Formats: sequence, C-alpha cells, structure tokens
Amino acid sequence: MALSIAIDGPAGAGKSTIAKRVADSLNIVYVDTGAMYRAIALYMIRTKTDVNEELSVCAALTDVKIDVVFKDGTQALLLNGEDVNAFIRTPEVSEAASIVSSYGPVREKLVAEQRRLAQNTDMIMDGRDIGTCVLPNASLKIYLTASSAVRAKRRYLELAAAGSECDLDEIQRGIEVRDERDMNREISPLRKADDAKLIDSSYMTIDEVVEQILWYVRRL
Ligand code: C5P
Repeated sequence: MALSIAIDGPAGAGKSTIAKRVADSLNIVYVDTGAMYRAIALYMIRTKTDVNEELSVCAALTDVKIDVVFKDGTQALLLNGEDVNAFIRTPEVSEAASIVSSYGPVREKLVAEQRRLAQNTDMIMDGRDIGTCVLPNASLKIYLTASSAVRAKRRYLELAAAGSECDLDEIQRGIEVRDERDMNREISPLRKADDAKLIDSSYMTIDEVVEQILWYVRRL
C-alpha cells in the first residue's frame, strides 16, 4: 500500500510549507488540495458567477476541469488546461474558495480526484478534511494548528515579503472568518480526526515541526 500522510488544520497554520519540506525529505509527492478549491473559485470569479449562489456555482461546475500534474515533483494546477498557480493566492480567491468549498457538489468533485491521486503514489496531502474524509485510512494523520494571532502574523510577513500591501488586523479577521466557516459547515467540517496527532506550531520553528512529523513517520 502507498504511504499517505494527511495534514489538516486551519488557514495559515503552515501546512503547505511543512508538507513541502516533509515531501522533500521523504522524496514523495506533495498534494495541496486547497489549490484545487482555489482554482474552482478563480473560475467562478473569472466567469462572474456569484459564489454566494450555490445553484449557479454548481451549474457552472460542469464546465470546470481541474487537473493536478507534477512537474519535477512540484504540483501544477490546471484549470481547463491552463496552469493557474500564479493566480490563486489573492485574498479575493481565498475568500471565494472558502465559500465554494462548503457546497456538496464542489467537494464531491474534488474529493474523488484527490482519492484517485492518492491511490498508487506515496504522498503527503494537506487540506481540511484529508484525515476525516478523503483518506480515512491514511498511514499517518497530523492536525497542525497555531493561534489565530500567530497565523495572521505569518501570513502578513509572507505577503509583505512578496511586496503586497496588507493590514495585520484585516488578515487576522479574514483568517477567523474562514476558520469559522470551515469548522461549522455541514459537509466535512474542519476537525481533528480522532486518530490524528495534534501539533500546535505557535511556538515551534518549521524545522521542529518537520522533525516531529519525520519522527512519527519513522515509527510507522
Ligand atoms: O488551504 P487553502 O487556504 O489554500 O484552502 C483554501 C480554502 O479551501 C480553505 O479556506 C477551505 O475553505 C477550502 N478547503 C477545504 N478542504 C480542503 C482544502 C481546502 O474546504 N481539503
């Protein structure tokens, strides 16, 4: 059976940074499932589909093809054949992704694709429902969290380093709104799987979190 590591947790907990590092150390693939929800959100924004209208979003879904491909071990996200990695990290897309991800048909479409991806490949997959829904039999499940103030500060520094103008309080509010939505939605809400290892990274370095996960992997 392929090795599968599930990492779930709230926005800005460092899942993707950590997952990438673990993937490199173990020489396995990293799958970023948030990017798939973001690509659907981008499609809705581009086609001026109101993301608050569930029926319109679900009707438009039939025109959306999401493909995850790996180039030199790095994930590229294809939206109807176009690599959209460069367009899916904006605050507008974050907000829209958080809304469309609460709709059942959106989740069904992406969960099926995520399970297919994990079938025969050793991988680490991050998201909100990987341990609870997508890969309930994952070899290892991690729930990675940190306080919302710490998560907001990290996002702020990331955006500032990329040259974006941003406001720390606004980022923290945005994170809290998205957490609230993810944790309270009807379908696959964000929660720690009973058999997941909890890691609170508020006062840990990236290296320490990576080492902790590799320690769990060595004991599988
Ligand atoms: O992880 P990221 O912030 O890129 O995810 C974007 C949005 O997609 C999240 O706010 C969350 O609402 C949604 N998501 C989800 N299930 C996943 C991954 C992401 O609902 N497995």
